[in-house]
Amino acid sequence: MRVYNFSPGPATLPEEILCQVQAELLNYQNLGASVMEISHRSPEFEKLIVKIEADLRDLLTIPNNYKVLFLSGGGRMQFAMVPMNLLRGKKTADYINTGVWSKMASTEAARFCEVNVAGTSPDPETWQLNSNAAYVHYVANETIDGIEFPFIPETGQVPLVCDMSSSILSRPIDVSKFGLIYACAQKNIAPAGLTVVIIREDLIGNPIPTTPTMLNYKTHADNNSLYNTPPIFCWYMAGKMFAWLKQQGGLEIVAKHNQTKVTKLYQYIDQSDFYLNQVDKRYRSWMNVPFDSIKPELAGKFLQEAQQQGLYGLKGHPLGGGAFRASLYNAMPEAGG
Ligand code: PMP
Repeated sequence: MRVYNFSPGPATLPEEILCQVQAELLNYQNLGASVMEISHRSPEFEKLIVKIEADLRDLLTIPNNYKVLFLSGGGRMQFAMVPMNLLRGKKTADYINTGVWSKMASTEAARFCEVNVAGTSPDPETWQLNSNAAYVHYVANETIDGIEFPFIPETGQVPLVCDMSSSILSRPIDVSKFGLIYACAQKNIAPAGLTVVIIREDLIGNPIPTTPTMLNYKTHADNNSLYNTPPIFCWYMAGKMFAWLKQQGGLEIVAKHNQTKVTKLYQYIDQSDFYLNQVDKRYRSWMNVPFDSIKPELAGKFLQEAQQQGLYGLKGHPLGGGAFRASLYNAMPEAGG
């Protein structure tokens, strides 16, 4: 029996996909081998990744002047790759630090440049952007704090960089507003091991001189993300997810499902005299709902009883948010919300 899995990442995957994978596992496309056992340079895999990229481009309406890279190293590798590649001779970068992940990204960036923390809330009225910054970085959805930007920041000529790890593909987004978007896969895309980077072409090719080959976006852009052996099973799973999202009808429809799911949960928490969510209502996340109860001493009992009822992965993060957290990614069925 499968549970309702509220884990923040690795996260629940659609049952249909898991069944498809199970059926294909021993014998992918009559090759007599699984997809994990064939070369990333085989014609079958090359054909597969062309389709996967086309599906992602279609879902997000990615303009032609953007490259899509399928990398490894997780979200955290991007915390370093972004400054290494995007400073382009500049000395400072702006960071909007709205929670745990953006702070971690800015701490890593400080190894390479002067970091200007331009704001600490998603409210642009409170920001002090620097027009000389190499880029402005923000985290679209703070997975731990449950804070999400309901809009795309305006940064004029300064490229906008977004960690979209926990909200990519949850609603439509105008990619043309960004210089670079990155997202680790283990929330809304696939199992852990893959990171998707969408980068405007003019930002590729001018890394700081000591940048290792593997950390240079140009290496991966020039080699169709096949420079080294990629995490091919995760990539294949990402393809299943993109096809599944297209089958749902695309991101407008997916967004409606997500909004319905999460609204039900916030409404329940808000009318309850036992549970609470303390995030400013303007910035409440659609994907991760942290919450507390007025009786913290009952937290262990709550989690235990929830699990007995088939509600798994509701424990909050030790670094913040709340004692509990329900992650409602695309793959969470409506009944789970
Ligand atoms: N950014 C965000 C918003 C995240 O939620 C996470 C992981 N939870 C990361 C970055 C780090 O990802 P990884 O563990 O793949 O390095």
